[in-house]
Amino acid sequence: REPLLEIRGLTVDYGEGPGAVHAVDNVDITLHRSETLGLAGESGSGKSTLAHAVTRLLRPPGAITGGQVLYHRRAKEGAAAGGHVSAPVDVLAMNRAELRAFRWEEIAIVFQSAMNALNPVHNVVAQISDTLRAHRPGITKAECRERAAQLLTTVGVPAARMRAYPHELSGGMRQRVMIAMALALDPDVLVLDEPTTALDVVVQRDVLAELVRLREEFGFAVLFITHDLSLLLEVADRVAIMYAGRLVESAPAYEIYHDPQHPYTKGLVGSFPPLRGPRRELTGIGGSPPDLRSLPPGCAFSPRCGHAFDRCTRDVPLLRVPPDDPERLVACHLDDPNGSADDNP
Ligand code: SF4
Ligand code: MG
Repeated sequence: REPLLEIRGLTVDYGEGPGAVHAVDNVDITLHRSETLGLAGESGSGKSTLAHAVTRLLRPPGAITGGQVLYHRRAKEGAAAGGHVSAPVDVLAMNRAELRAFRWEEIAIVFQSAMNALNPVHNVVAQISDTLRAHRPGITKAECRERAAQLLTTVGVPAARMRAYPHELSGGMRQRVMIAMALALDPDVLVLDEPTTALDVVVQRDVLAELVRLREEFGFAVLFITHDLSLLLEVADRVAIMYAGRLVESAPAYEIYHDPQHPYTKGLVGSFPPLRGPRRELTGIGGSPPDLRSLPPGCAFSPRCGHAFDRCTRDVPLLRVPPDDPERLVACHLDDPNGSADDNP
């Protein structure tokens, strides 16, 4: 597996001084080429902040205060022939011009509300053309139209709808237009931040099925962010779970579903009906979501965790690879071989 986007120790703060909160706290995640990585967690867990930070769209008072986001650029044809692999670039160190080229061409983003992201006074073809022209200054009007028609067809929107304005399209169609725009410049990474929450369940499933198909056709990688873990388990190869700004577990989707290790992941998996097979009792997670301004010492999940013991309220659990499970990362003191005997319950 080839790394594409490596997030290393990413930390994002809101505010400064004693009132500052870590919305994203020292997060490590790697997205591999052509992989769909799902990022789940309750609202306020830092998922959207992470997406905004990685794409450098974070707005004050949010500020990146630590870490790196390394992007492994696709080798150009000539360079590949010469066997030259360039070093990854740090997205956090890019200047404006570099960022302009990076966004859309290498990483494209579909955010929560397609309605707000589309310009209400421009029709679909005008919006797709704007994106194309910004990156391909020589492109003609006819070429833009042709490319727009092709993109719309690709995502299941009849090309005849290119003259439509956003308000004339259904929610599902608007989503598809957003995805078409995101694919306009053939990016390597698509970031989807709660892309389908505004849609009804059937339309949601349709749009996602389309995405899975497109990913197979074009080979881009997807960073898919949602609070809906059940949805994620159906489309993602790997799933990472965030809680209170920290990554608490990551593993292949199958393992997250069938063998979750972190008590919070277990709670999330237990809170929706089984994807298939017999019904089971829904357990859910007690207690209230964390308040970033007053996190408990040690594990942020400890007030809600049925397994908490002494060490949990003392030490912050760090991500580790369990001895028999190289594909997994988990941040929990339970079964930690490095914990001393009296550290374990
Ligand atoms: Fe529960 Fe302790 Fe694990 Fe946190 S570290 S999830 S409190 S057992
Ligand atoms: Mg969000």
